[in-house]
Amino acid sequence: MAHDLTTQLAVLGGGPGGYTAAFRAADLGLSVCLIEQGGRLGGVCLNVGCIPSKTLLHAASVIEEARDAAAFGVSFAPPRIDLETLRSHKARIVTQLTTGLDSLCAARKITRLTGHGAFVDPHTLLVSSQEGDVRVRFDHAIIATGSRPATLPGCPEDARIWDSTAALALTTVPKRLLVIGAGIIGLEMAQVYRALGAEITVVEPQNQIIPPADRDLVQPLFLKLKKTYRICTETRVAGMTATTNGIEVTLAGKTDAAELFDAVLVAVGRRPNTENFGREALGIDLDGRGFIPVDDRQRTAVPHVYAVGDVVGDPMLAHKAAHQGKVAAEVIAGHASVFAPRAIPSVAYTSPEIAWMGLSEKEAAQQGLAVDKGKFPWGASGRALSAGAGTGVSKILCDPDSGRLLGAGICGQNAGELIHEAVLALEMGATAEDIGLTVHAHPTLAETLAFAAEMVTGSITDVL
Ligand code: FAD
Repeated sequence: MAHDLTTQLAVLGGGPGGYTAAFRAADLGLSVCLIEQGGRLGGVCLNVGCIPSKTLLHAASVIEEARDAAAFGVSFAPPRIDLETLRSHKARIVTQLTTGLDSLCAARKITRLTGHGAFVDPHTLLVSSQEGDVRVRFDHAIIATGSRPATLPGCPEDARIWDSTAALALTTVPKRLLVIGAGIIGLEMAQVYRALGAEITVVEPQNQIIPPADRDLVQPLFLKLKKTYRICTETRVAGMTATTNGIEVTLAGKTDAAELFDAVLVAVGRRPNTENFGREALGIDLDGRGFIPVDDRQRTAVPHVYAVGDVVGDPMLAHKAAHQGKVAAEVIAGHASVFAPRAIPSVAYTSPEIAWMGLSEKEAAQQGLAVDKGKFPWGASGRALSAGAGTGVSKILCDPDSGRLLGAGICGQNAGELIHEAVLALEMGATAEDIGLTVHAHPTLAETLAFAAEMVTGSITDVL
């Protein structure tokens, strides 16, 4: 027998979209019930995404920096890697953050239900938990069910064929690792396993790595990776067979080959979780790409039901999910909030990092938009050179008439931190002149963005 619970707001999914919405709604005085099937809050991001991947990438960068230090006369012995300790270090950080969320939830008196939730009618969710079924009656609901890794058709079931979650589990370091997909997740995991000693092959059907980013932005990363990885662009996987000696993979396209790998990471994108939660009982249809359509207040076609995060579309990023969660909670609480960012930054935490926001040159070309471009090579930055980061680049795109910033991209150390000056500038309607006239400390990597702006205004005409 199910027992009943009544709440003003039910949130389905405890990832960055769901928990942020729940916290904000509780802070605004609503009674909130947060339903998560996975047991731990944090969703993909905290448990099997952003945080464990960045923890492992930090270890990879320590290994790389120690190796590169030989170039300026500081040598270390080759690293000894204790996988068990690395795994528990990662687990400790994840646990610290997820238990932190537990405390934040408890402090707000949010009702937590652990179990799978499904709508049975437009005002009721049935949650199946170990403690029994709970019928949750709600005034409003937020769907924050997130996404899962996309699969490759015809891919055999085999423990040596990984998705990102299996790769993050770090059970073993294969001798030969094939990474299918040169997007952010594929390249981040490739970097971790390369640092731990795997030989890496990357295949990508498109003609560049990290296809959404401008080609000139990813070129320094591509040139660096090419030294130690085999990267096959314009190549797809035509077949995969699990054999006792490894996974036999047939590559077709620019590279035609049949090769054996000890493990294969399939990193070909993510699919929204739109099934098995009673969407039909709500009468919500999906858009042409399989996402839940929402307006700028995160409202679905059903007036009292909202949706946020990966389940509503690209970009599938934690910071987008969190901002949408906040907006949905505020709208439900009666505030005039909208989700209308001018730019959402994307970051590949590779070495060098790639970060971009706003309009890209690719998009400008597709839309037939004229732009003024300033591009500052980090080889002319003293700070970049002293940090061994001279291959980086900072680029900004501005409107030729108003001078307003339209987009920016950075390749280089800490690009993921540096991009936020550009995001703020774009949000505030700043021009290239505003950025160029803003006094930046010297010597910093941040200066390179100001120099790129000065190249747009013409106050810098050439570089060393
Ligand atoms: P999710 O985080 O997917 O959470 C959804 C939650 O809902 C899950 O916990 C799920 O168990 C629960 N759920 C689903 N259905 C039900 C149901 N019916 N009942 C109960 N519970 C349910 N993004 C970044 O911004 N930066 C990064 O550096 C980054 N790195 C990443 C690295 C990897 C390897 C991966 C895989 C992803 C990464 N992402 C990153 C993406 C990021 O994790 C997601 O964009 C983000 O987690 C989406 O948040 P969400 O709240 O929409 O959904």
